[in-house]
Amino acid sequence: MTKTQQGSYTLAAARYQSIEADTPNEALTDIYGRNLFGLDQMRSRLGKSDFRSIRATMNGETSLDPQVAESVALAMKNWAIERGATHYTHWFQPLTGSSAEKHDSFLKPIAGGAAITEFKSSELLQGEPDASSFPSGGLRATFEARGYTAWDPTSPAFLMERPSGAYLCIPSAFLSWAGEALDMKTPLLRSMDALDKQARRALRLFGDENPGPVRPTCGAEQEFFLVDEEFFYRRPDLVASSRTLFGTKPPKGQEMDDHYFGSIPGRILEYMNAVERELYLLGVPATTRHNEVAPGQYEMAPVFEEANQASDHQLITMSTMRNVARRFGLVCIFHEKPFQGVNGSGKHLNWSMSTSNANLLEPGDTPHENRQFLFFCSAVLKAVHRHQDLLRATVAHAGNDHRLGANEAPPAIISAFMGAQLEDIFRQLEKAGEATSSKASGLLGTGVRALPEIPKHSGDRNRTSPFAFTGNKFEFRALGSSQNVAFPTTVLNTIAAESLDELCEELEAAVEEGLPLEDGMRVVLSRETRGFRPVIFNGDNYSDEWVVEAEKRGLHNLRTTMDALPIIESEKNKALFDKYNVLSPREVESRYETYTEQYAATVNIEGQTAQHMAQTMFLPAAVEYLRNLVNVIECADEVDLKVRGVNATARTVSDLIDRLVEKIEPLAEENQAAAEMEGTEMANHVRDRVIPAMDEVRDVVDRLERIVPDELWPVPAYRDMLFVR
Ligand code: ADP
Ligand code: MG
Repeated sequence: MTKTQQGSYTLAAARYQSIEADTPNEALTDIYGRNLFGLDQMRSRLGKSDFRSIRATMNGETSLDPQVAESVALAMKNWAIERGATHYTHWFQPLTGSSAEKHDSFLKPIAGGAAITEFKSSELLQGEPDASSFPSGGLRATFEARGYTAWDPTSPAFLMERPSGAYLCIPSAFLSWAGEALDMKTPLLRSMDALDKQARRALRLFGDENPGPVRPTCGAEQEFFLVDEEFFYRRPDLVASSRTLFGTKPPKGQEMDDHYFGSIPGRILEYMNAVERELYLLGVPATTRHNEVAPGQYEMAPVFEEANQASDHQLITMSTMRNVARRFGLVCIFHEKPFQGVNGSGKHLNWSMSTSNANLLEPGDTPHENRQFLFFCSAVLKAVHRHQDLLRATVAHAGNDHRLGANEAPPAIISAFMGAQLEDIFRQLEKAGEATSSKASGLLGTGVRALPEIPKHSGDRNRTSPFAFTGNKFEFRALGSSQNVAFPTTVLNTIAAESLDELCEELEAAVEEGLPLEDGMRVVLSRETRGFRPVIFNGDNYSDEWVVEAEKRGLHNLRTTMDALPIIESEKNKALFDKYNVLSPREVESRYETYTEQYAATVNIEGQTAQHMAQTMFLPAAVEYLRNLVNVIECADEVDLKVRGVNATARTVSDLIDRLVEKIEPLAEENQAAAEMEGTEMANHVRDRVIPAMDEVRDVVDRLERIVPDELWPVPAYRDMLFVR
């Protein structure tokens, strides 16, 4: 343990001891939603007819009445100011992946040196941040730099409280002057409309004459690391790129399998309680928390919600987790692979479709008889089969390249796990167009008389599948932990809408020809099942055999971000997004451009940070050690002492120093070359040239870390960061 590290241990411990229970003892139900301007607040603050009108707008049934907007703005302002708010902001989601806000005060100076508070409906409805400071993927270059934020009445406004005051956040869409979506929310909302339309059409076919709105539902499980801030800020790589670019695996990693679901360490539990309290105030339904597989790694997950709100809430959750961590002397890391050789972090996106009272992917006890379920489920599988490559592209970014395809996370091949019962049903459908039985799920025998009988699921779990049916929803597991869920959700909604559209068309045609619905279903499902069967895979996705088998089945295996991203703007996908009014071809291109730039910039920052750290931290540390060794050798010589071991070590260190200097040079050159490129050229360059050059530097540095004394090593080690909690 180095002197400085010892200092941090003491600090961490002291900080932990000084954490007062800052969670006042209040009933959950009292704090839940207290800082949310939701339906309850509107009901009590608006007149009856205004309330009915805004509720219809919030349900997506009518567009906003300007008169009502004025009453809502006034009610919202009064509510916020009563709670100590001084400012308001449109809260939106630019293509950076996180949220953005620009605060304006409610204060309006009036004559005589006094002031009043004011908030007009025009201010509620629309804001005008400078669009030129956000990524737009070329949408701005040809149009105006002007951008507008527009209030999204379907997601409630909320109040962010800080010790020094509060501010009102108004969830908003973000559009260019020409009306093109510069954000994540706009396409998500459009895709929800597309799905709603097609899903209702399907429900009508199954006899529901007047189906209410169908909404996608989402619940995102968030994995993350917590690292003591003393260590974090002493690692330029963590600060600059949220992952360690160097570091050797500690002798004890996750080998003992003792961390997953282990009891949550004290400081971490305090932290989680504090996070949950803030989330409850905002009406974010956090519910599950546990240790994850790696030391220092955890997970928190919410109760699922309608997709737009779930997506807003996911971003709020991430920023809350980040902010609260600092109160506990911790830094919350969402990077997919902060520590090489240690389990990475993902974000499982649970997704389904639901009417106001029924989950459309609920199979019931006898799924083979549940035609409506089979229809909706088939639509999803058809969509996943046809758009595997697009789904892969939605999770493509620099951080995820470290886990997709690696040995502990879903591979880069998209397939769907259905479990034994449903796979059997789809096999029957493929043969005959109908299924006549469902494998029973049954009860679990525990062999202990005192234990209750536990109902067993109809299928086991398969943690290796990137897209798994888990009982009554699909779990898209390939998302990286740092991702905004909006884009993958948008794509799921859109491709499901397309499949439903096509299945409805086929079924409608069959019914029109005079076939009874039953028979029409038989024809359609047997044909469709034959088409999408190759994407169903219940086996071990991590096995080498699967890679071979998947290739035989004609499934895509897009290994890296730059293999996958171009898929976004293929003709097939431009036509898809355009047809369902989710993204125009130009908007699609802008996504490709933005994500490519982000990839290139991320790796470029890593490359420069690695070069800098190697040159200014690790090389000097190694030279210092060599100097010490040479001193010993010289002294030993004077007294005629043989120090063969020291001699050998000095030679090793000296060789490694030579190697390091040799390896830094090409990295510096590749970094230099990258600086003169942009776009796709730069992205391919950093993938093909910078990453390999970084790996070579890392290899030498990690060897040095194993022999240079701790005391001289300039950054905290993995064991410090992972085990000091
Ligand atoms: P499991 O243990 O099988 O993963 P859980 O009930 O624990 O199932 O759910 C895991 C996540 O899935 C949670 O975030 C939950 O909110 C979400 N979820 C459950 N049902 C749905 C649904 N119908 N639609 C979307 N997400 C769902
Ligand atoms: Mg999960």
